[in-house]
Amino acid sequence: MKIKQLKKYALAIITIYVLTVLAGCSSASQSEAAKKDDQRPILVQGPMPIEAENFAKKLEDVKEEKSGTFIFYIGKLDKYPVIVAKTGKGMENTAAATAVAIERYNPIAIINQGTSGGHDPNLNVFDIVLGKRTVNLGALKTADKDENQGIDPTIWKPMDLMASEGSAGEDPNAEKPRFYEGDKDLLTAANAVKDTYTKGKIVEGTIGSADVWNNEVDRIKWFHTKYGSSVEEMEGASAAQIAKAYDVAFLGIRVLSNNKVNGGKYNPDTAAANQEYVYEVVKKYISDIKSK
Ligand code: SAH
Repeated sequence: MKIKQLKKYALAIITIYVLTVLAGCSSASQSEAAKKDDQRPILVQGPMPIEAENFAKKLEDVKEEKSGTFIFYIGKLDKYPVIVAKTGKGMENTAAATAVAIERYNPIAIINQGTSGGHDPNLNVFDIVLGKRTVNLGALKTADKDENQGIDPTIWKPMDLMASEGSAGEDPNAEKPRFYEGDKDLLTAANAVKDTYTKGKIVEGTIGSADVWNNEVDRIKWFHTKYGSSVEEMEGASAAQIAKAYDVAFLGIRVLSNNKVNGGKYNPDTAAANQEYVYEVVKKYISDIKSK
């Protein structure tokens, strides 16, 4: 009799224990799931090792994932998920790395950052441009000329590949640049921490991108006049285009590493300086998200 009672007690205690453990588990996994929903990561992109690795080193709990040649450093900043992507240089790498990251990690916002060449004579090496607008400088329609009539780049026209689904070559409505707007909340965060940057000035402007390094001052001036470009680089517009396709907040942040227009010599140290500043921007954006 006594043994039977003991067995009953033991069974009751075990049952309560198991139920408690199960309840604990399910509430833990629920909060994990909730976290995933409202803690969508912030994606910070940099093309070259010098433009991504400094930021990646600042993250906590970093795990590395690869896809093709793209490397994603998945970590935390102020307990919030942040992913640094080393995309490789150029428009194609960046577009693909952006799409892969969006599909895999569902980021809440994307910052494409790195070095650039100045188009604006008032901007010096170490100054930073916040991309109020980003534009593809390589989408162009040439003049209509026959054999032996030559090449005339100054009369080429901008071509908006997103104007319609029809032929951009035939569509007069496509003869304009396509500007991608920088996200308002990202710009607010970036402006709010401007004073943390002491190596140059920070301005809002237009970032132009193409797989081209322009060294002809007259051609640079042509872009500056026609598109209002502040700087050129090789990635921003492709990331902006894909971010727009998926409706993800986007901002380009580019430091001048060179400026042919005013004789500013290339300085690779600018890449690290920009990451320091972008780190402050991301921290501010996270604190803005948390206080919402
Ligand atoms: N292969 C080239 C260097 C390319 S580096 C050479 O050896 O000359 C280009 C990288 O620097 C790109 O990621 C681009 O975004 C950035 N960049 C910096 N200044 C640039 C400029 N003036 N024009 C184009 N890209 C620039």
